[in-house]
Amino acid sequence: MTELLYQRDSYLREFEAVTIEISDDGVVLDRTAFHPLSGGVANDTGIIRHGDAEYRVVNVVKSEDGRIFHVVEPDPCFKAGCKVTGVIDWERRYRLMKLHTADHILAAVLYREYSALVTGGHIDPEKAKSDFSLEKGGKELFKQAIEEVNRIIAKGIDVKIYFLPREKALKIPGIVKLDRRMPPDIKILRIVEIPGVDVQADGGPHVSNTAEIGQIKLLKVENKGRGKKRVYFTLV
Ligand SMILES: [Zn+2]
Repeated sequence: MTELLYQRDSYLREFEAVTIEISDDGVVLDRTAFHPLSGGVANDTGIIRHGDAEYRVVNVVKSEDGRIFHVVEPDPCFKAGCKVTGVIDWERRYRLMKLHTADHILAAVLYREYSALVTGGHIDPEKAKSDFSLEKGGKELFKQAIEEVNRIIAKGIDVKIYFLPREKALKIPGIVKLDRRMPPDIKILRIVEIPGVDVQADGGPHVSNTAEIGQIKLLKVENKGRGKKRVYFTLV
């Protein structure tokens, strides 16, 4: 199984690894800082270097059995057992981290103020999209929620990341605001805590202090049927 370096250090931009499998699906490494599309957060891109050869990482995909495939261009000439260096496209990743942490704060605010639950969402480098179960409330409600998010961001709160046994983690109230994001077979859960704001079981990269986000702004709100709202926001 691949060691997920980004889960311990979201700021790791370059790393050494050994190739363990190469197939039409991509390259599997013994360790990686590349985040695959998962948990509603887009994949990283970047490069993999092998000797003098450089390959563009155009996609990173997690298979159902948990393997992480780095899709590279052109097709790799290296085999399994080779030493390579991975380099993340940092600008893209850092935007994903900022929007991701902001998304957790927004979910916490909407849960606290309106008991709204997250029902889905997707974060790409340009914007975040989040679906909430919420009976009433339109653009004004979300505008106020975003203002509250910006007040929280400006406090400069350190984001804590740690690991807990599943049983212990599940005793924390509100630990999973989105059921389907909770992998059933995982014994140790990674916890992302924004003290005083939110605590979530979560596998993705985050900023280490909320002040790094800057500010966010509301883009639009859509009605998605009875009791469902979709909100788009981005970094200012
Ligand atoms: Zn998350």
